[in-house]
Amino acid sequence: MQVETWNAAELVAKDIAHHLHPLTNLYQLRREGPLVLVRGEGVWVWDAEGKRYLDGFAGLWNVNIGHGRRELAEAAREQMERVAFVPTFFGLASPPTIELAARLAELFPGPLDHFQFTSGGAESNETAIKIARYYWWLKGQPERVKILSRRMAYHGIAMGALSATGVPAYWEGFGPRPPGFIHLTAPYKYRFGEGLTDEEFVARLVQELEETIEREGSETIAAFIGEPVQGAGGVVVPPDGYWPAIAAVLRKYGILLILDEVITGFGRTGTLFGMQQYGVQPDIVTFAKGITSGYVPLGGVGVSDEIAETLASADRVFMHGFTYSGHPVACAVALRNLDILLAERLWENAAASGAYLLQELKRLEERPYVGEVRGKGLMLLVEVVRDKASKEKFPPEFKLGPKLEAATRRRGIIVRCTPDGIVMAPPLTISRAECDVLIEGVAAALSDVL
Ligand code: PLP
Repeated sequence: MQVETWNAAELVAKDIAHHLHPLTNLYQLRREGPLVLVRGEGVWVWDAEGKRYLDGFAGLWNVNIGHGRRELAEAAREQMERVAFVPTFFGLASPPTIELAARLAELFPGPLDHFQFTSGGAESNETAIKIARYYWWLKGQPERVKILSRRMAYHGIAMGALSATGVPAYWEGFGPRPPGFIHLTAPYKYRFGEGLTDEEFVARLVQELEETIEREGSETIAAFIGEPVQGAGGVVVPPDGYWPAIAAVLRKYGILLILDEVITGFGRTGTLFGMQQYGVQPDIVTFAKGITSGYVPLGGVGVSDEIAETLASADRVFMHGFTYSGHPVACAVALRNLDILLAERLWENAAASGAYLLQELKRLEERPYVGEVRGKGLMLLVEVVRDKASKEKFPPEFKLGPKLEAATRRRGIIVRCTPDGIVMAPPLTISRAECDVLIEGVAAALSDVL
């Protein structure tokens, strides 16, 4: 492919003048400008000046099959030439959307056999919350509306998903949130379960759940929503017994379980789905990101046979959906992406490379400012603390995140740098040698800053 040339300075000036970035410190961006990426191949991306970086965050946890797969471009072109858009409202459908729903019914465990599509994770979680409430409404229990979630959860920024999200920074400045969202303790043993065995910690979280249900009244609760492994909130890997124990309590009280597999779905944790790591079967699943490896936007919701039967038992319109629910081009790209993911069994490399990264990065725990290194498959975090004994964090004025961001980029790696440390989620195709580049970059950037 011909290498294009870009006017980097002009692009940066135009971006600062006209592009209002999401999830960005706009004050800082005005002063520093964006990093403009123009090309990608495998785990590598290039900026407008030709510098190469290892994409240690796979875009936004989503480029699972890696950059530069021509087959996905072909799938999009073929579908656009056939018919670019067909709605899924009012009884219409197109072949890729139908085929994708059927393929997902085969892939997801248990009775998750019915799928509705969206354009991303937040829309999927909005849809799941509304399906849960609507299910109970149809069942003659309209008072079942409350949603249980966890602190440190990230479910997206649309108003319902935002209310289930358990990171207060996402709420500040955006006015009142709808009532009925209750946040429980995250299964974050490093901070909330110190000195306890896994069993004791799980027992404590289960007790909190039961007490909350008893206090609120199970007849007012529609569903519990959670990520199998909490991602954006801080890569919180639960103890193995956590999900089966939580699911058992929910079953006892007839509360639906929604698993948010937006990050964990499609191989990232080392199995095709995160739920398979923990042997837990949800009633509703949400997904996005890895379903198309980010080549085009697509998300969706899967529901159990029982929920689908209930929805279809009412002779009325299900008054929910988005213009782009089941976009044929996005679904065609998803099908080709799944072909690659399955043919290359990429979850196996996620397990092997993730285990290697975790083992090597664990060595950083010897450093005085590394509190804990943890991860599951290719979701990893090096948690940085000011004081190891007290686990005190660096104060906001230290600007740990921006400092680490600048240092990692200087070192040629793109990772997510937060007030908690460095988060990694590379493409599932990453090789051993590329893992070493990532490890060396992280280790060196930490030394640069701390
Ligand atoms: N759920 C989880 C677990 C996520 O990590 C994200 C995004 O990172 C979302 C939902 C929201 O997805 P989107 O940004 O596509 O709306």
